[in-house]
Amino acid sequence: MALLQIAEPGMSPEPHKHRLAVGIDLGTTNSLVASVRNGIAVCLPDESGRSMLPSVVRYHADGSIEVGQGALKAQATDPRNAIVSVKRFMGRGLKDVAHVEAIMPYDFEDGPGMLRLRTVQGVKSPVEVSAEILRALRVRAEASLGGPLVGAVITVPAYFDDAQRQATKDAARLAGLDVLRLLNEPTAAAVAYGLDNAAEGVYAVYDLGGGTFDLSILKLSHGVFEVLSTNGDAALGGDDFDHRLFCAILERAAIAPPSLEDARRLQMKAREVKELLTSCEEAPIHLRLGSGELVDLVVTRDEFADMTRHLVQKTLTPVRKALRDAGLTPEEIKGVVMVGGATRMPHIQRAVAAFFGQEPLTNLDPDKVVALGAAMQANVLAGNRAEQDDDWLLLDVIPLSLGLETMGGLVEKVVPRNSTLPIARAQEFTTFKDGQTAMAFHVVQGERELVADCRSLARFELRGIPPMVAGAARIRVTFQVDADGLLSVSAREMSSGVEASVLVKPSYGLSDDEIAEMLKSGVEHAGDDMMLRALREQQVEAERVIEATEQALAKDGHLLDAGERAAIDAAIEHLRVLRAGSDHRAIKTGIDAFARATDEFAARRMDNSIRTALAGHKVDELEL
Ligand code: ADP
Ligand code: MG
Repeated sequence: MALLQIAEPGMSPEPHKHRLAVGIDLGTTNSLVASVRNGIAVCLPDESGRSMLPSVVRYHADGSIEVGQGALKAQATDPRNAIVSVKRFMGRGLKDVAHVEAIMPYDFEDGPGMLRLRTVQGVKSPVEVSAEILRALRVRAEASLGGPLVGAVITVPAYFDDAQRQATKDAARLAGLDVLRLLNEPTAAAVAYGLDNAAEGVYAVYDLGGGTFDLSILKLSHGVFEVLSTNGDAALGGDDFDHRLFCAILERAAIAPPSLEDARRLQMKAREVKELLTSCEEAPIHLRLGSGELVDLVVTRDEFADMTRHLVQKTLTPVRKALRDAGLTPEEIKGVVMVGGATRMPHIQRAVAAFFGQEPLTNLDPDKVVALGAAMQANVLAGNRAEQDDDWLLLDVIPLSLGLETMGGLVEKVVPRNSTLPIARAQEFTTFKDGQTAMAFHVVQGERELVADCRSLARFELRGIPPMVAGAARIRVTFQVDADGLLSVSAREMSSGVEASVLVKPSYGLSDDEIAEMLKSGVEHAGDDMMLRALREQQVEAERVIEATEQALAKDGHLLDAGERAAIDAAIEHLRVLRAGSDHRAIKTGIDAFARATDEFAARRMDNSIRTALAGHKVDELEL
């Protein structure tokens, strides 16, 4: 019998609908999906109870697609169609992956914007391959949570550039996922540890995965993480430890070079033994090879630590570099978060503890920590947090560059897109005309070079600039975007201190589609824009020299005879004609010719002004 839900009078019959949102760690080796249930973030397992989904997609000849464990098993037998490590190709062209091309078994093809992989099901882009992984996780989550998702937070390495981030978003869209936000992996890990509620300070995130090592330095202030620096090694991870052990087994067992099949079995055995040695003091290897030879030996934890010591040390180089880039010493790090399955190895933990002089944070499962943090963020973004938790600040980045209009309708970018919030950036500008006492500012947003192609956000004026010659005033313009995405722009003339400012709301009001369109057109028009920029720059320069010459003529015209004056007037006229045209090279040549035509006049003015300055002084007074 169905139970009826009875509501107290005055109370809403439906208390508060929990909106289903997930966090996804889309890893190079393994991917996970997590969600907040009953206030606690948990990873969602598949029907056999495994949380980790190997990031492998296999295209079968019959048109079916397999993701995960099964696909991973086919890696040795069907390498071209069982795609591993696709994350390395996201948003990359063929030339970007030249270093791995030789060792990867794929049939690459260059494509517009991104490389492609030839498979038995045709040519696939990394976005499509990643979408299969994301789709498998979405299906798992919807089955486990019992309904469609409102969206997902997907994590990406902190160093991912725009193309890689955009590719990740596109993959999600293909997989039918609404991306609530892309979140940096180290930030997600820090969120999972609750560091966002911790005391302000600087934290290190040490992430050793299957094939990659990433070290990030994060600064927490006012509940927002800022990435201070990142470093790492794209070809260093748990796999290298497997490989070292595999080589050691071959040496110790003194066996002939194994067949491909035996090598693969030994490699898998090596991984198993490596993982076993994390919890046991020793691990036996007992394996009959296809050749009939028997491998029978025992590896101890200490032996394993010895043979991989150099790999552990190798991770410390990027750590030192990241600290140096952030201008910090190991003692200044408040906490070290361990991420990635390979950080389970005890000798890794010892080395990290020794380097930083403190025990790293290891109480959360290092495989899951990124997904858990992403789930917590997704829960907030989906609007599932209670009122009292509203002080939870969200992390965000600027989706489009912010800048100012400069002479000639050009944009000077001040805050580049994807800067993390909050951010403050200042830049100095100067006056264009002699004696200029006011300056108009036009704040714009977009990636294009011309103001006309960007979005206008606000205008304001700075008045009361003391009159100076053109180019002498120093006007410092500061852009500040707070954690809520509110932009304020202020301008200050440095000698007098006069100030003006304006407050704007930038990213809001722009839909994702509009942002995508603007980004697309920024890329498409990059070539045209550069031409236009060159033209505008020359036009502005031409205008500047004409203006300066006209002022000089007004003041010192008497230094020229009628013929000379006529020649300069004609030169001005000629430059004006060139300036109105659209050939930036012609204008440049015209400016150079104009300079030669007015050289004599400039020299005479110089002599004259020196003479005036010297009037009444004896020459020896000037000797220093
Ligand atoms: P990624 O971020 O690249 O997807 P993971 O964080 O899932 O990778 O890490 C995978 C690596 O962690 C593999 O090399 C795996 O062997 C290693 N690993 C997993 N569990 C253990 C363990 N118990 N001891 C040592 N290494 C482990
Ligand atoms: Mg990872």
